[in-house]
Amino acid sequence: MLNACELEIDLFCRGLRVPGNVALDGARGVRRTRAGLGSGLELVIPTDSWLKREIWMNAPVVEPFARNSPYALSVGATGFEIHDQRGSLRYPVRIPQQPVWYEWETSHGTRMSEIGVLQGTYLGIYVNPVCDFWKNSLNCRFCTTGQNVGGTESAVKSVDDVVETCRAAKDESGVTFVHLNGGFQGGHSLEFVEPFVKAIKERVGLLVGVQLTPERKLARYDRLITLGVDHFSFCVELMDPEWFARICPGKARSIGQHMFFDLIEYCAGRMPRGAVSGELIAGIEPIENTIAGIEEITAAGAFPTVCVFRPTIGSDMADCPPPSYEDMRSVMAAMYDACRRNRIPIGMAPNIEVSLVVNPDDAALLAPRDGGFYRYELWRRSLKFAARPLFRRRLRPTGGSRSGVRPLKGPDPTSRSPSTYRT
Ligand code: SF4
Repeated sequence: MLNACELEIDLFCRGLRVPGNVALDGARGVRRTRAGLGSGLELVIPTDSWLKREIWMNAPVVEPFARNSPYALSVGATGFEIHDQRGSLRYPVRIPQQPVWYEWETSHGTRMSEIGVLQGTYLGIYVNPVCDFWKNSLNCRFCTTGQNVGGTESAVKSVDDVVETCRAAKDESGVTFVHLNGGFQGGHSLEFVEPFVKAIKERVGLLVGVQLTPERKLARYDRLITLGVDHFSFCVELMDPEWFARICPGKARSIGQHMFFDLIEYCAGRMPRGAVSGELIAGIEPIENTIAGIEEITAAGAFPTVCVFRPTIGSDMADCPPPSYEDMRSVMAAMYDACRRNRIPIGMAPNIEVSLVVNPDDAALLAPRDGGFYRYELWRRSLKFAARPLFRRRLRPTGGSRSGVRPLKGPDPTSRSPSTYRT
């Protein structure tokens, strides 16, 4: 029997079949947003380990490879189960419900699910206009942003749209973290995102992460830190220069790998340890490269976020095979080990479970139980406890009140009630 993290990895690699007779009434729908990696069914895998209560993941269900998966969703006596049809093993899972606010509209009349969606327990919002790399066929080959922005998600998101969606997600779904990302905008993405950060901090009170292509003007990072950004992530994706140029041609021509690492180091030096991450995609290039990338990121004081490559429908890599379980298990075990050796405080912030990646603390379930493991886990727990007051402070709106949203129609939109938004 696989443990919860092993099952998560195997599902990322093999996908999940959802037979027609399994009703998913009320479940979060399959949503194609941002780079498209969240194209699957959101699942929660419970674990009886003291390390982690549950693991959130987004299981591939629509990609062709999932049709051959040995895993099928079924309904057992106590709820949903994943049946491994290679034998009789059954794993209990929970399917999170679709938040009520997905169907609400902002005061500008935009459906909130076209502004942002939950990816695990956090809110993901693609804030920029469509990435410039999509305009000249230099898009990353795994990405579907160019098809999603303006399609399944709104092409233009105003500050008020974003603030109202953040507020609904905080009030109704208990969200603590919003991740603002976007593609290449000719070196002006950081300026573009500033008013969003400022408004969320002042009017909502959430932890804010920013994931944009690197820019040379370091003062723009300093300014965002001053505005209250809690987290920066840098998506270098691939380590081998040839793979990088082949899979991410726009990034290779306009940015270059070095700049990602320079900025990881720069921001990690200015923010609390563990507030910066470097993102990699595992399963495209040889795993030795991915593991080398994990080492480089953690040595800089940042934590790695590692996606399992998904050949998403509509991407240029839709026909590529997904990676093997064995390879991905090795990568994720190496990720946890590198975090432990470099004393990266993973999993500190409250209620952030990312469904698109194997979270570094998910991978604690893969680690050998030796002295180093227990020392690290004890250290992480005491730090997490000590950091609680800090996060409580950072989750308060800095503007002092929840005012500022223009009440265009109906009752006061600053109230908690869902009826304050048009449905
Ligand atoms: S930088 Fe690459 S992954 Fe990001 S939006 Fe542009 S094409 Fe997609």
